Amino acid sequence: MSIVQDNLERLQALKELDGISQDDLDSLNNPHKISYVELEVNNKKYPAWRILYSSDLGPGKGGIRFHSDVSEDEVQSLAFWMTLKNSLADIPYGGAKGGIKFDPKKADRNELEAVSRAYAQAFHQVLGQDVDVPAPDVYTNSQTMAWMLDEYEKIIGHHEPGMITGKPVELGGIKLRADATAQGGYFVAQEMVKEFLRDRQPEDVRVAVQGFGNAGLFMAEKMAADNFKIVAVSDSQGGIYNEDGLNISSLSAYKAGGKNVGTYSEGRAITNAELLELDVDILVLAALENQITIANADKIKARHIIELANGPIDLAADKHLDAKGTVIVPDILANSGGVIVSYFEWAQNRTGQILDEEYLKGLLEKKMRNNWSRMFNLYKEKGNVSLRQAAYILAVRRVLAAKHWRS
Ligand code: NAD
Repeated sequence: MSIVQDNLERLQALKELDGISQDDLDSLNNPHKISYVELEVNNKKYPAWRILYSSDLGPGKGGIRFHSDVSEDEVQSLAFWMTLKNSLADIPYGGAKGGIKFDPKKADRNELEAVSRAYAQAFHQVLGQDVDVPAPDVYTNSQTMAWMLDEYEKIIGHHEPGMITGKPVELGGIKLRADATAQGGYFVAQEMVKEFLRDRQPEDVRVAVQGFGNAGLFMAEKMAADNFKIVAVSDSQGGIYNEDGLNISSLSAYKAGGKNVGTYSEGRAITNAELLELDVDILVLAALENQITIANADKIKARHIIELANGPIDLAADKHLDAKGTVIVPDILANSGGVIVSYFEWAQNRTGQILDEEYLKGLLEKKMRNNWSRMFNLYKEKGNVSLRQAAYILAVRRVLAAKHWRS
């Protein structure tokens, strides 16, 4: 089943669970606009997409991914999740996503720049601070955003920093954005521990983290700093396990030196499949979608899962884990810290005001904890829904309310 079909089935369940009408659900079935271009750079062709799923709540908002597996199904699903995430986060954005089918690991800096600039040229008409606002995602970063902003501003002939977020600070970005996804995820993880692992001390809570990039690395650092025992982490080449807990700062330095975590000496090398199946208290998924499917769902021993990645558990596996009683903190809440801070960056660019960093950090924390509470209260009130379904209900209600006001 494609991820898009999975999502539509997840939506359909809301008819029974929250009495949402079929017409309302059908109105969420299709993206508003799919833009597709084949980029041509140095005689090579790269399929590229920008998909605006919804603009009911505001301009589109969502990252741009560079990966050799990018497809229309994937970008559309990511744009759908952005719609729900932005709605749940209570920020004034619709949902969108972009991607280029391209392996950035095989490209040098010149090619990365050329591909990034080609993307901005191809899609400039469907982007803009009031239209659709991109940000970094897998294998894109502040440098990618800087090239895209520069190219866009050359085309439109004036400055418009609010057209993209996750920029370098010197181009209008904000420092807080760098680890915002993990910071937001960590606030939610603390709430989850308070509710579901109440009697445990952090040093007795064993954690495995899949993915050691922007989301996973910062999450591992934050949890380790508060004494959670990080027993395993992985990147695309494999993982490392140490039952006494890994030294995350030393491992981060090792990774920053261009090495893969699986070759780190203070632990036993494991495969990514093994990491997912470890008997841990918390499994943090921070790599890519569809990591837990029906093929491995019955081997998952973790009792609590935090989805920092988008869509890491497919629908069939979700149902299986739910039936088993696994607590899953859904992606649309767990990783929303990144887009919330992107919103702060965009708002600052729009108003020209410089907002105090400590104030913004406090606002992020307040929003994350508040959004957890809204989801958790509905979960308890309904009694027959998962955390994900509670989050979906809140998100869909807000998008539909905006649609109704507009009709
Ligand atoms: P990144 O490019 O910084 O890091 C990705 C990491 O995943 C790398 O360490 C890579 O080696 C690893 N990886 C790739 N394939 C893997 C595999 N099969 N098994 C284990 N590890 C694998 O990307 P990121 O920004 O950290 O994004 C990770 C996930 O978080 C994505 O799903 C992304 O959509 C989501 N997310 C990121 C942000 C953000 O602000 N960066 C915000 C919201 C959601």
